[in-house]
Amino acid sequence: MNTTIDIQIKQTSQSKLQGTDFENLSFGQVMSDHMFVADYKNGEWQDFRVEPYAPLSLNPANATLHYGQSVFEGLKAYKDGNNNVLIFRPDANQRRLNESADRLCIPQIPEDVFMEGLRKLLEVDREWIPNKPGCSLYIRPFIFATDDYLGIRPSATYKFMIFTCPVGHYYAKPVSVKVETKYTRAAEGGTGQAKAAGNYAGSLYPAQIAQKQGYDQLLWTDGKSHQNIEESGTMNVMFIINGSLITAPTSKGTILKGITRDSVLTLAKEKGLKVDERFLTVSELKEALENNTLQEAFGTGTAATIAHIYKINVGDKDYDLPEKPADSFSYQVLETLDAIKYGRQEDKHGWITKV
Ligand SMILES: *Cc1c(COP(=O)(O)O)cnc(C)c1O
Repeated sequence: MNTTIDIQIKQTSQSKLQGTDFENLSFGQVMSDHMFVADYKNGEWQDFRVEPYAPLSLNPANATLHYGQSVFEGLKAYKDGNNNVLIFRPDANQRRLNESADRLCIPQIPEDVFMEGLRKLLEVDREWIPNKPGCSLYIRPFIFATDDYLGIRPSATYKFMIFTCPVGHYYAKPVSVKVETKYTRAAEGGTGQAKAAGNYAGSLYPAQIAQKQGYDQLLWTDGKSHQNIEESGTMNVMFIINGSLITAPTSKGTILKGITRDSVLTLAKEKGLKVDERFLTVSELKEALENNTLQEAFGTGTAATIAHIYKINVGDKDYDLPEKPADSFSYQVLETLDAIKYGRQEDKHGWITKV
């Protein structure tokens, strides 16, 4: 392995490990003891360190606070039956982080800084990775501008950080979704493909309206015609209609290129399912709901892996989806992905990095 970068380690003297209830973990509430930090200045990433998780001190003129020059990632680490630490597709997250960074004029993170920083952090906080079935460690890498300057231009300085939090076993609850045809998450030429902070800020208001109406999440449509289904808030979406798996293509730059999406499509093709990467239109969806040809609908993303959709609102009508038999594709693919992530099944795609 590449160990060219020098990482300073400062251990905490006040571990929160003993005081953490691993039986009742809720997502994103308890952070592990340490974080990885690197600073960008004078044109290069430097000062690599693992240090106690702690608040940052920011100047009120910090560029990120005003103009949102910030990108992030999300991935998970798991423990197998022998307590080995396995990370799922970190190379793909590293590449995507840099694609997002390019779009926001943020300097790329070299692969060895990302990978060695992550490895070192997981070594130091190894005890934070739950070893119970279904539990995992959520990993949040992010980069943000740190110039104190109110003019609008790319910052000259940045911070790259990684922190983690243990997450409990949760059967992702099935979700209800509303097809959104007024507001827009992403437009062609915009930042929809980047995991950029501002995308999420802009989606809160329309999502809140849907939640007040009783739906969990939105199904976004394209910004131009509002006819084509794109994705959900933090998940890509897939539909199985008449035996074909349909999911939106990522070629227009409006859709986040989900790593779970890619993994599910790979497995679907291997299982012999017909995969159709094309836009499903709102009227096609409505028709499939009305004539009962929609067999399955689900979201894909790191947090839940697969989130089954049980209700879809189109126009002013709610449609309940049929109960899925236990041998449905979405259950099968969830089981296969879990088996790979927890090391119970051979990793023939090279998706697992062992720490
Ligand atoms: C992160 C994210 C996804 C899912 O990506 P994964 O790599 O599968 O976790 C999908 N859509 C949006 C908008 C996202 O932010």
